[in-house]
Amino acid sequence: MKFTSTLLLSSLAIGAVAEPTDWFPIWRPLVQSNQLRRVLYRTNLLKHADALAEHAKLSDGTRAFGSKGHNATVEYIQKKLEKTGYYDVELQTFKYLFSEGTANFTVPTGTTEKHYVTEWFTYGPAGSVKAPLVAVSDVGCTAANFPAEVKGNIALIKRGTCEFGMKIALAGAAGAAGAVIYNNADGPVGGGTLGQPSRPETGPYVPAGSISGVDGNALLAQMASGTVTGSVVVKAVNEDRYTSNVLATTKGGDKKNVVMAGGHTDSVPAGPGINDDGSGSMGILEIALQLPKWSVKNAVRFGFWTAEEYGLVGSEHWVTSLSKEQVSDIAVYLNFDMIASPNFGYFLYDGDGSAFNLTGPKGSDHIEHLFEDYFKEVGIKTAPTAFDGRSDYGPFLTAGIPSGGIFTGAEKLKTEEEAKWWGGRAGIAYDPNYHKAGDTKDNCNVGAWVENVKAAAHAIATYARDLNGIPRGVARPKLAKKQISHDQRRHSACGHALNSI
Ligand SMILES: [Zn+2]
Repeated sequence: MKFTSTLLLSSLAIGAVAEPTDWFPIWRPLVQSNQLRRVLYRTNLLKHADALAEHAKLSDGTRAFGSKGHNATVEYIQKKLEKTGYYDVELQTFKYLFSEGTANFTVPTGTTEKHYVTEWFTYGPAGSVKAPLVAVSDVGCTAANFPAEVKGNIALIKRGTCEFGMKIALAGAAGAAGAVIYNNADGPVGGGTLGQPSRPETGPYVPAGSISGVDGNALLAQMASGTVTGSVVVKAVNEDRYTSNVLATTKGGDKKNVVMAGGHTDSVPAGPGINDDGSGSMGILEIALQLPKWSVKNAVRFGFWTAEEYGLVGSEHWVTSLSKEQVSDIAVYLNFDMIASPNFGYFLYDGDGSAFNLTGPKGSDHIEHLFEDYFKEVGIKTAPTAFDGRSDYGPFLTAGIPSGGIFTGAEKLKTEEEAKWWGGRAGIAYDPNYHKAGDTKDNCNVGAWVENVKAAAHAIATYARDLNGIPRGVARPKLAKKQISHDQRRHSACGHALNSI
């Protein structure tokens, strides 16, 4: 409970029943940025970070969507928000295919074995096979390319012309026990997907991996002078998971002028995701837990998104579930994804397009300038970051909702100039632990985190009082659900799409 004793006393004095849900009608002063900022403590943020670390322990160090760790985070947020009695809290639950794995390909050489750099294909099934390699003719896009000897063995297939998924399903149809696709250029494929979860019309998928073109051609040369036995081992999980967004809207305030703030609750499978995006989601959670000390003129809604790491799945699911009217009711959307990077920068989404020429819906410029002015006032230099839809604000941009936010940087390297502005180390990633096991509380920069949570609170409090400068009454279209499969969108968050051909 975050209520002060004064408020408790006054609620008793006016005879309100001491039930959380009945606290709401009591009089509260209108929220003010400086007052809200004053009650945001680093100790509370760190407690949330500890909770997330505990959640990750429930599922081998990850909070990937739908895992025990992630479900615990969702419940943590929901329970804390419900306890305030200040919000209408809603879980939006849906089903989504989780697909993660690794592939290993080895060939015995005398007494030891050669390990190939092998990449797994999204949707690829788990399994283990040790058998002779059989070369497939051409590029393995028709059944006729697969010789009879493939049966029970490992098909070695060249990349090109048709989808990886087609080749692997044709290998399965030909009775192969496994398959290896080698690149049609020297290097590795660089991330691949079978494109569809299954292809029953063609054949069953078999355990498969991809290797570089150099390795593939060397194997073919080796096979020309005798049988080469290889081993394909794929560890993978392909399963439908139920997962939830958490939405919390203040019971008070004008619901036709909603101020939204959001962050994602899931991590990647590789790590606990304390900066990405424990920092943003817990930052806005803490704001949401302190806000009930005040009232709001415009309703405030917090969005805690699931499956961001799989291509903004949760936020898109929510935005596309809204009616035209519900979309129009949202005045602004503020996104906080990675705001405690160890080698941080203070980046603001370039809503006015001045630096990256990607301008957001009208009003996005106002949000950027609000953050700019705030940081200037507290003596912190900021720089713009591309407004490219790489995080959960993407679907809001598509819906025409003015958006903005803060970002302290991911895998890109800090420049010399930036190191002069903000300290830290030039030539090192803003977050060297980005999407890794090292994305822990100890590796977060708590100073930057606190500053950014205060900036977030400033924007929320300011817009909750007054939407001056934000265009209102603009009719917006209802967003159609996009038929984009997750692998096309997946890893949009880390800046590269998976190859399907
Ligand atoms: Zn993120």
